[in-house]
Amino acid sequence: MAEEPAPLVEVFESLARVLTTSSRDWGAYWADAWLYGVLVGWDCEEAHEHDGAWCGGDAATRGMAEQHGWSEDAVARLRRYRAAVRAASAGFEELRAATRQHIAAVYGLPAEMVAGWDAIDKARVTDDTTASSEETSA
Ligand SMILES: [Zn+2]
Repeated sequence: MAEEPAPLVEVFESLARVLTTSSRDWGAYWADAWLYGVLVGWDCEEAHEHDGAWCGGDAATRGMAEQHGWSEDAVARLRRYRAAVRAASAGFEELRAATRQHIAAVYGLPAEMVAGWDAIDKARVTDDTTASSEETSA
């Protein structure tokens, strides 16, 4: 019997992790740049006033558009796709927290132990250099 399909939020999180932990230049080839733009995003996505001194704002997207010949319509489409992935990815932390609470409840684990897993995951997300570690996640 087939396993239950993974939620899309988990799929997008995994794909973004693969891209952001790879040493590949995702801007060099147009197809890579497009995938990166959808799954990670070239624009600064911090909730602040974008300032060239602190962040690139939309400069990276404009640079990609110029380098790869993307029209204004294509850039608008890319940003719509990125917005959809962001919206779908927004629930990832909640999903992970809920999964942990469930596991902790089932096995009677202390809350500190479950909270500690977050620190491990954060370190793993930033340290991963390959996608193979995906197989070890719960
Ligand atoms: Zn910014």
